[in-house]
Amino acid sequence: MNSACGVNNGLIRFQHMAGNQRIPGLWDWPSSCYKTPAMTLTKPTFPAPDHDHGRCTAEAIAHAEQVCARRAQKFTPIRRQVLQALLSSHRPLGAYEVIDELAKSMPRPAPITVYRALDFLMENGLVHRIESRNAFLACAHDHDETSMVAFLICDHCGSVGEIPAAPVAQSLNAAARASGFAPKLSVVEIAGTCAHCQNK
Ligand SMILES: [Zn+2]
Ligand SMILES: [Zn+2]
Ligand SMILES: [Zn+2]
Repeated sequence: MNSACGVNNGLIRFQHMAGNQRIPGLWDWPSSCYKTPAMTLTKPTFPAPDHDHGRCTAEAIAHAEQVCARRAQKFTPIRRQVLQALLSSHRPLGAYEVIDELAKSMPRPAPITVYRALDFLMENGLVHRIESRNAFLACAHDHDETSMVAFLICDHCGSVGEIPAAPVAQSLNAAARASGFAPKLSVVEIAGTCAHCQNK
């Protein structure tokens, strides 16, 4: 990535994904800043109901360990436990659902402790915030720091899938600018029905 893109090391992605920390002009960067094929979809967007979820969990935890090691960040027990709670399914969980999940195997943690761990996980691209559900999703993909994704939210089973969205983001930005609007869009979330629920 060249320096004209301004931000590196996960910041771009953090801004898009976390949604809270928006920098005006973020979307002004040239399209060369967005690596279109950046998100590798080696996994299905919506894993089959009978898939080996233990493997998803183990891979996501191993990925988190690698990311933390690479960035010299500490993968503390609470950070690991919060990620593990979110990995209990492919559905996003609200902060209090995370606390309930944790309370099954440890003393009930204080909300601030859980929120801090969630912030850390989001900053490092391991968890995404699903704005429309006020909930948090463990990222099951090993995608690039700068990749822009859209979230597909199944109204039936509650699962959330991720798809690459850089071209969509660029054209939305261009359309908004054409109308004289200065966009600060952070995420795209699409509600609907996943393929597995359609086939039921
Ligand atoms: Zn799974
Ligand atoms: Zn992701
Ligand atoms: Zn579904």
